[in-house]
Amino acid sequence: MRKLNVFFDVDYTLIMWDGKLRNHVEYVFQRLTEGGHTIYIWSGVGIRRWDMRRHNLEGYVTDYFVKPLWGYKDRLGEYNVNVMPDFVIDDHKGVVDDFGGYHIPDVADKDDRHLLNVLEAIEALAAQPPAED
Ligand SMILES: [Mg+2]
Repeated sequence: MRKLNVFFDVDYTLIMWDGKLRNHVEYVFQRLTEGGHTIYIWSGVGIRRWDMRRHNLEGYVTDYFVKPLWGYKDRLGEYNVNVMPDFVIDDHKGVVDDFGGYHIPDVADKDDRHLLNVLEAIEALAAQPPAED
């Protein structure tokens, strides 16, 4: 199994418009951590450590970065992102197009299961041999 660097966006990905967490965040963070994957949090509006602490998720997160708002992959160095994302979860499609990952809807109903799909997709990717590039 590959160990992946998993990058989560915050607004409308993990924390919704009402300030509440999307369904299944802690379960998915726990499963990823147990699977040996590394969780990073990034956001276009700054370092979101406090938000993760407020929701008791800080223990799962290895590091925090500011996310470039455009030219994502080309500008990682400029933003001091010293880890290459293997899988990103974001409500902005452009980020997912650049790195690969899961384009998550920016709204969630009460039965939202998207993060469970995310977990499944990450586990499937981790089970594959590394891509040649
Ligand atoms: Mg967002």
